[in-house]
Amino acid sequence: MTKASLCWFRDDLRLTDNPALASAVAHGRVLCLYVIDESDERRARGGASCWWLAQSLAALQADITAKGGKLLVVRGDPAELVPHIAAETGVDHIAWNRRYEGAAIALDKTLKEKLTGKGLRVESHNANLLNEPWDVTTKAGTPVKVFSPYWRAARLRGEPTAPRPAPKRIEALELPALLEAMMIDIEALGLEPTKPDWAGGLRAEWTPGEAGATSRLTTFLEGALGGYAEGRNRPDYLSTSKLSPHLRFGEIGPRQIWHATQLARESGQAAGQPADAEKFLTELGWREFSYHLLFHNPDLAKVNFNSRFDAFPWRDDDHALQAWQRGRTGYPMVDAGLRELWTTGWMHNRVRMIVASFLIKHLLIDWRRGEDWFWDTLVDADPANNAASWQWVAGSGADAAPYYRIFNPVSQGVKFDPDGVYVRRWVPEIAGLDDDTVHQPWLANAAQLDKTGITLGNTYPRPIVPLELGRERALAALATLKPA
Ligand SMILES: Cc1cc2nc3c(=O)[nH]c(=O)nc-3n(C[C@H](O)[C@H](O)[C@H](O)COP(=O)(O)OP(=O)(O)OC[C@H]3O[C@@H](n4cnc5c(N)ncnc54)[C@H](O)[C@@H]3O)c2cc1C
Repeated sequence: MTKASLCWFRDDLRLTDNPALASAVAHGRVLCLYVIDESDERRARGGASCWWLAQSLAALQADITAKGGKLLVVRGDPAELVPHIAAETGVDHIAWNRRYEGAAIALDKTLKEKLTGKGLRVESHNANLLNEPWDVTTKAGTPVKVFSPYWRAARLRGEPTAPRPAPKRIEALELPALLEAMMIDIEALGLEPTKPDWAGGLRAEWTPGEAGATSRLTTFLEGALGGYAEGRNRPDYLSTSKLSPHLRFGEIGPRQIWHATQLARESGQAAGQPADAEKFLTELGWREFSYHLLFHNPDLAKVNFNSRFDAFPWRDDDHALQAWQRGRTGYPMVDAGLRELWTTGWMHNRVRMIVASFLIKHLLIDWRRGEDWFWDTLVDADPANNAASWQWVAGSGADAAPYYRIFNPVSQGVKFDPDGVYVRRWVPEIAGLDDDTVHQPWLANAAQLDKTGITLGNTYPRPIVPLELGRERALAALATLKPA
């Protein structure tokens, strides 16, 4: 064995504040590794995530090369590839940063035992959370089921440790020819869509990679953070950080965001009031809470957290599901959100809640079908945040929205998109309507429709379900559930 290390990258595609990489570099020469996981044991990434991954790996490869290192990208089952590559390179040390999905934990555990048994030193680190899910507990030492006490307990643990800088240099380990031959050209991975190429809107919107993440954070701290506490609910302008896909792929870590926010606040460089920064940090807390829930409930994306919902009378309605997916429900706020998602791979949080509530409550379609669609189309599709948020909206989750809360897409639109800027941007066929009807085109009179060239049911759909009927049907379905 040589004094050399394998640094296995997963959800941590960055050099800064990457403890596994720091440990590998401190150990000796390093081979950086990424495995495109093709095993059926773990949930496959959705289309938008694959697009992001291809860009992010290319950025990581360039960053590693610039430091003198080498990133080996291979495809297959990591359960076989990681021990094989360790053996071929003769490394005596392996480091990775932890993941928290049940299947990923199981894989890491098996690999740790196997590699340790072969005499390697195996290290796992925390790169992606402020607190490990098992470190925040109730006073009785059990998992926390409600956000506020969770976040109080997390805050009592003190400030997260300061992020560490990127290594100055990475000494690359020579690759045996056999491994060199396994190396995959990222561009040839086939992660980019071609037929059809639906990623034009994603390319226009995002810069995947560590540099893109850092630049998003700086822009946010100097701009939208001002007024964030209130403004974060407004989808009609850039009111949030849009850091979610960067966080999902670990191009930036929560400790970096935390300390940069505090530093900007103390130095007066951050826009806005202390309450804005506090609210922003609390949103990171929701992310932490989702991971806490996922760790303690590995089936969060499939199984109702609250088993009362197991008997819920969901409707099978593929026609309605498809209309929802394509943004053709006849409700502009819902349609705008789903079109924003389809075009850019992202949707504003307020609108995510509105469209999810509409699918679950007004259409009575199982939250898991919505979760699946988001999984496929979001660039930030996240095993913890997506599952926990869908369950939150359904009312089946931990600390969920009260089950009888049914978002009204019209009043939500009027409140959070008061000038109709957001719906006009994403549903251009109704842009000519005035502010009174742009959130409810069916109220426009014949003269208005005529003037704006709209034919309801033709150029824009009529409502797929009347709001009152949908609401009453949802309440009736919810009433069938046994009390908790
Ligand atoms: C139905 C539904 C599905 C969702 N699916 C995902 C998902 O797959 N991936 C994902 O990252 N977020 C998901 N969210 C949470 C939230 O909508 C996004 O994190 C947020 O919109 C990302 O935008 P931002 O980075 O500008 O957020 P900001 O407001 O700038 O917040 C900063 C960060 O805090 C975290 N955060 C913010 N809000 C939440 C929240 N409600 N729950 C958990 N973490 C939060 C995110 O990591 C976010 O990047 C979902 C919400 C809903 C209602």
